Amino acid sequence: MSAKPNVCIVGSINMDLTVTTGKMPMQGETVLGDEFFTNPGGKGANQAVAAARMGADVSFIGAVGNDPFGKTLLDNLSSEGIRTEGIEMIPESATGTATIILSENDNRIIVAPGSNNDVTPGAVAKHRDLIKNSDIVLLQLEVPMETIVSTVKTAHAAGVPVILNPAPFQPLPEDILETVAYLTPNEIELASLQNDPLFASIKQKSIVTRGDQGVSFVDNGTEREVGGYRVQVQDTTGAGDTFNGALAAEIARGATLEDAVNMANAAAALSVEKIGAQGGMPTKQEVKTFLQ
Ligand code: ADP
Repeated sequence: MSAKPNVCIVGSINMDLTVTTGKMPMQGETVLGDEFFTNPGGKGANQAVAAARMGADVSFIGAVGNDPFGKTLLDNLSSEGIRTEGIEMIPESATGTATIILSENDNRIIVAPGSNNDVTPGAVAKHRDLIKNSDIVLLQLEVPMETIVSTVKTAHAAGVPVILNPAPFQPLPEDILETVAYLTPNEIELASLQNDPLFASIKQKSIVTRGDQGVSFVDNGTEREVGGYRVQVQDTTGAGDTFNGALAAEIARGATLEDAVNMANAAAALSVEKIGAQGGMPTKQEVKTFLQ
């Protein structure tokens, strides 16, 4: 084991393509927009950046296309100190994108998963040493469900705990719900989980993020609530991703659940004070300074 806590993420990598417009185009209409910008995104990549900035040694199992976005996104992860040897470059796939049309009172988003669909159980098997050598595995639901299943099994067999961020929400197989150590739904995702026959046991292992209200979780059978920090909100994109990455880094470090949740709550609060998902993610030093 390295001196730093080791977090392995199996997940998505996207380029977010955003155009701002005063007028949302109607069916068949073309309008002139205002600005266009690109940002690295994807829940997996965002959470990896958050964990790395919180001081974890992060390895990533994922995929990009052999195209300019793929190269840029790999460079971006490397520049954060994230280990990218588990990221395949798939020649016949396009790198995942999210195309975002943003107007003052509306936004419309189309995600094209592209190479994220190439993160297969075979890719997990090929890079399983990254999972086995980690202190914790962090997952979201932007790669195929069969890959989630095989990752949870691989981690479980190696005795490595898994945090599953059930976003974007999809129904989860029973054995996954039983095997993961923690689930990190937001309130909307928690409401979707409520219909699950296993909800009582799901609740025991859920760390629920509640936006500006903070977090609630169960610690050794006792329900706990931690209030949100009062901050100057600029952009809440990626708040949940910051929370998950920071939580994984802290649990991997051996922090108690309570301390890990407190650090992640503070990291996520700081992230909403800045524009952009990855742009706002704080370093561990910044979180420590904020908490002094
Ligand atoms: P998601 O981004 O997945 O929808 P939430 O909105 O629940 O998740 O936010 C995740 C975490 O980010 C919260 O639990 C909290 O720690 C922090 N957070 C989000 N919005 C705010 C806010 N307005 N003020 C302070 N903290 C916030």
